[in-house]
Amino acid sequence: MDTLDIAFAEARRYLASLDTRPVASRGTPADMRLPLPAQFPDRGIPANDVVRAIAAAADPGLTGNAGGRFFAWVKGGALPAALATDIMCSAWDQNAVLASTSPAGAVLEEVAGRFLLDALRLPADASYAFVTGCQMAHTTALAAARHGVLAQKGWDVEAKGLQGAPVIRVLANSHHHASVTRALRLLGLGSDCIVPLGGDKPGLVSPEVLRAALAQAADAPTIVVLNAGDLNIGACDDFATLCPIAQAAGAWVHVDGAFGLWANASPRLAPLVAGVEMADSWATDGHKWLNTPYDCGMAITRHPNAHSAAMRMTAAYLTSGGDVRDPMDFTPEWSRRARALPALAALMELGRDGLSEMIERCCDHAAAIYDGIVGLQGATGIARPTMNQGLIRFDAKDGSNISDAVIAAINASGEAFLSGGSWDGERVMRISVCGWNTSADDVARTVAAAGEALSRVRT
Ligand SMILES: *Cc1c(COP(=O)(O)O)cnc(C)c1O
Repeated sequence: MDTLDIAFAEARRYLASLDTRPVASRGTPADMRLPLPAQFPDRGIPANDVVRAIAAAADPGLTGNAGGRFFAWVKGGALPAALATDIMCSAWDQNAVLASTSPAGAVLEEVAGRFLLDALRLPADASYAFVTGCQMAHTTALAAARHGVLAQKGWDVEAKGLQGAPVIRVLANSHHHASVTRALRLLGLGSDCIVPLGGDKPGLVSPEVLRAALAQAADAPTIVVLNAGDLNIGACDDFATLCPIAQAAGAWVHVDGAFGLWANASPRLAPLVAGVEMADSWATDGHKWLNTPYDCGMAITRHPNAHSAAMRMTAAYLTSGGDVRDPMDFTPEWSRRARALPALAALMELGRDGLSEMIERCCDHAAAIYDGIVGLQGATGIARPTMNQGLIRFDAKDGSNISDAVIAAINASGEAFLSGGSWDGERVMRISVCGWNTSADDVARTVAAAGEALSRVRT
């Protein structure tokens, strides 16, 4: 057998087992180490044996997040065309850094970028970068924001850095994701530059709070970070109201839309993110709700010049400047896989109708799981999904919070996988539905597993 055939056979075996294998992995670290050499081998091992050994080592430690009953964190699976394209990308081994290093990588990325902006209903002339995930999408977009707000003050941050620069304020929804904080750390702004903003509605920034925060330092270069879908309840800021307020004060508005930005692809859900296209930059993921394999995030900005000013580098050995866009003018990476191609495949496989149908289906399944579980004795609904995220609390008969124990019991059953979180100081179970292949049957199995776990744990 050819080495690739072995890999394909292993991949097919795994995918075929998703319906029956436990969603949570059951292997111990020792199980995973056992099939591998104990030490770095002195002599090389034949490729076929290497692939078999790695497959055997990984198998007991694989979670079923490619399947339909994984609802923890925010994870989608991989659409068939996206997965297959990802495999071809590895085989082609293109360096999608410049049009000259991979014409295919650069041209197909341009098409992917155009389709992406159209799918998300963002300005057609926005700039985009395909990066490793939303973490690096924040880093990229906020580097463009840093350029933009400092250029307004006559400061060239790419040349001078932040030493002696006007101090940047970042006014961020207090429910911002920690990846925003880390991006600010990486950009030399530090987590202390964040002024957390709240309001009277859970997870949302109110216009009065934003206005007051802007007025506190009217002359400071300012970035405002808003949420399109926070990871607990999927809350979306009121972009149509907040963007004009921030922009009138000279601020750059950045949106964390890791998954929630995809609501804009559905006519039914788009009202949740009304006005999101007014922002200055957006960060999102392909590997969450678009259902590409991992290693796919997107940074998008309304300001291509600020974006490329923040990222572009030249070197004598690079040939650039043709009529095809050079990906590296917009990305923080140098050498990079052609990661736009699986996204292109997903967008083509779904099309506009299929994409909105998938987004809506996930939201309907999230609501059905929530309603099914909230109907059980001992479960209390904390946040019914308005998008694809919901929160439920579990209580023992004496009223004590047993959410973590119920989650552990569901996960131990192997039927479904969920994660916990904290909301208003209470432990809760989070439900996140992002998978293209979650079915009504998966919903029923999950509710049944929750019922069994609850009756076992609740004494
Ligand atoms: C997942 C997530 C991120 C981080 O995305 P990665 O792709 O893991 O880097 C940021 N913000 C939100 C709201 C998320 O759900």
